[in-house]
Amino acid sequence: MMAPVTDFIATEARLGAQNYQPLGVVLSRGEGVFVWDTEGNRYLDCLSAYSAVNQGHCHPKILAAMIEQAGRLTLTSRAFHNDQLASFYEEIAALTGAHKVLPMNSGAEAVESAIKSVRKWGYEVKGVPDGQAEIIVCADNFHGRTLGIVGFSTDAAARDHFGPFAPGFRIIPFGDASALEAAIAPNTVAFLVEPIQGEAGVVLPPPGYFAKVRELCTAHDVMLILDEIQTGLGRTGRLLAEQHDGIEADVTLLGKALSGGFYPVSAVLSNNAVLGTLKPGQHGSTFGGNPLACAVARAALRVLVEEGMIENAAVQGARLLDGLKRIPTNTIREVRGRGLMLAIELHPEAGDARRYCEALQGQGILAKDTHGHTIRIAPPLVISSDQVDWALQRIEAALRQDFS
Ligand SMILES: *Cc1c(COP(=O)(O)O)cnc(C)c1O
Repeated sequence: MMAPVTDFIATEARLGAQNYQPLGVVLSRGEGVFVWDTEGNRYLDCLSAYSAVNQGHCHPKILAAMIEQAGRLTLTSRAFHNDQLASFYEEIAALTGAHKVLPMNSGAEAVESAIKSVRKWGYEVKGVPDGQAEIIVCADNFHGRTLGIVGFSTDAAARDHFGPFAPGFRIIPFGDASALEAAIAPNTVAFLVEPIQGEAGVVLPPPGYFAKVRELCTAHDVMLILDEIQTGLGRTGRLLAEQHDGIEADVTLLGKALSGGFYPVSAVLSNNAVLGTLKPGQHGSTFGGNPLACAVARAALRVLVEEGMIENAAVQGARLLDGLKRIPTNTIREVRGRGLMLAIELHPEAGDARRYCEALQGQGILAKDTHGHTIRIAPPLVISSDQVDWALQRIEAALRQDFS
């Protein structure tokens, strides 16, 4: 028998691929907005696993659904029907207005599935010559880590030395509708975009951008694919971020909080035309649509709505944004965001955002830096006003820390 591992960080470094650089904290328990490390220190989680735990850690109702289903039936493959998938379809379609649903597992798989589907739609419905379909994407996008996806990333770290990559993507600036208009060609089948660019540092487009995007896509018969894997399911204070702009995507991608953090569950939601092109044998996933995933996702969606988490995200997000804007420090260049998807951008002279994340850790808050100077603040949607006010005091203390 080997002795149980106690030096978690060193063992990870010795045996694991070093494709992450985590903060020096080892977590062993979570409940609601809080997580605890192996020493018993409590932290307010302001990352929420990149918005996968919108419903809070270990939500008791999702946990109960998972345990109940895990003891009954977990996986059948799609070679047979199971008694959870139909209800999952019904409930997610009723909630989002989708006409067709394709269940997958990770977010990247949902993105890949959407790309495959819109290309097929382009060839079989729009009449694009075979092999010529083009998809327009935005600079500074983040859609996942598969080869297909990193091939159209503009982030050198995500892309360099992983090629060769698949052709068929055209990159335009985010937030620029005239760039979209100029990029649309006869073979354009889709525009794939995040409503708010999360990994890029919570970048919001100018007002009216998505209304114009919707208009252009409709006019040119281009499918609008909104990647709501991070912005969706309440994060921005609405069920879907598209609702802020009063538009409807042709294809919507969900993942992350679709399981409340219990299990990888993602989905492509679409009109009939796009997913309608997929015929038996043309696409699949061993785990996609499995009964355990469906039971977990059904519970995750139910608590999000029934427990008022979406409305709470709007209310607490406004309180947090307002409080962050009032922090008296010249360390902060800008505070921005929508709902509980917020970011603090530091002045470049303030130094690396990571040291502020370490200072936040010392204050009992876990947050993640992105792109050097930005700290994302995205707690679970179950956060209370008192917890927001407590967080604001701690964030202020960390940002006013003197590192000299
Ligand atoms: C996280 C994320 C993905 C990828 O999801 P994975 O489950 O990590 O594959 C795709 N798009 C957006 C906007 C994301 O935030």
